[in-house]
Amino acid sequence: MRLHPRTQAAKESIFPKMSALAARLGAVNLGQGFPSTPPPAFLLEAVGRALGRYDQYAPPAGLPLLREALAEEFGVEPEGVVVTSGATEALYVLLQSLVGPGDEVVVLEPFFDVYLPDAFLAGAEARLVRLDLGEEGFRLDLKALEGAVTERTRALLLNAPMNPTGLVFHEEELKAVAELARRKGLFLISDEVYDELYYTPSPPPRLKDLAPERTFTVGSAGKRLEATGYRVGWIVGPKEYMGTLAGMRQWTSFSAPSPLQAGVAEALRVARREGFYEALREGYRRRRDLLYEGLKALGLKAFLPQGTYFLMAELPGWEAFRLLERARVALIPGEAFYREDPPQGLFRFAFCKKEEELELALERLGAVVNSQA
Ligand SMILES: *Cc1c(COP(=O)(O)O)cnc(C)c1O
Repeated sequence: MRLHPRTQAAKESIFPKMSALAARLGAVNLGQGFPSTPPPAFLLEAVGRALGRYDQYAPPAGLPLLREALAEEFGVEPEGVVVTSGATEALYVLLQSLVGPGDEVVVLEPFFDVYLPDAFLAGAEARLVRLDLGEEGFRLDLKALEGAVTERTRALLLNAPMNPTGLVFHEEELKAVAELARRKGLFLISDEVYDELYYTPSPPPRLKDLAPERTFTVGSAGKRLEATGYRVGWIVGPKEYMGTLAGMRQWTSFSAPSPLQAGVAEALRVARREGFYEALREGYRRRRDLLYEGLKALGLKAFLPQGTYFLMAELPGWEAFRLLERARVALIPGEAFYREDPPQGLFRFAFCKKEEELELALERLGAVVNSQA
């Protein structure tokens, strides 16, 4: 007996594989992007209080108190919010709902790995637009983006602050994207799971403020609150579509876990009120600078991220598994973020780790990178 060919989407992901190997070899894990520190106490306490009070099914659209908390944050009505099991489910439901066979969705490359299987499982084609990579780092070529749109294109998928590049798009770039989408009649999917992790002077502009009638914003409590295992995410979008999206997400996980939704609802308010995100950004900015300066000091080319807790750098001639063995540092190779023909020697470093871990990784890399062999 044979499984359906669509299960070709089930190929092993490099992220958990690297984590498992790193644990086995006693390596510093700067591969998979999860914090190595505990989530904030106010989140743990809020979830603790919710257990025993929110124990049965939540509505597929989400617990009213979480939809209200998010509606306030995003300046929309609660009907404009659907809660999902992580941003991963949000993206799955959106692609199932927006595109199908014969359609194309434009995706920027390098990409977060979920986008391509999601397009494939919806029967649609992902059309890739590769970011330019020059001395100054990654850059979106707006002409290339426009050139990728065909009469079959139904949606553009953007991610900013962007994993893995750390790019934050300028308002001018997003205005051009919004204008293109309007002219061509396209939906916009804006993956903003790192919306609070930016190092620019002001918060990244939101696509939904430029094209509210066609933009679906995807977010993640796991990323916001440093608890990637909690699996609470959301979609914020035009009210007229959100009832249908809630109806679609019934058939995946029906609803996200109720106590976690309740705990997250409370924690999102506390985080905003008590300056949690400011403190988080400051901590990450310090670690970003430590890693960036450390890599430069080793003579390596690194690209300073303006957002996220990822940094891309070049280790010419190295391959991820050999590096793991020799240096005992786990990194994600650039090819995980490209469909074909990836730039050589490019790696993603996750710096959502303790400063000691970053220092140890730099020390270990220093011992091998300039002595090849
Ligand atoms: C982590 C991540 C997601 C998935 O978020 P979850 O809430 O953990 O499912 C989506 N998009 C990007 C860019 C991410 O880095």
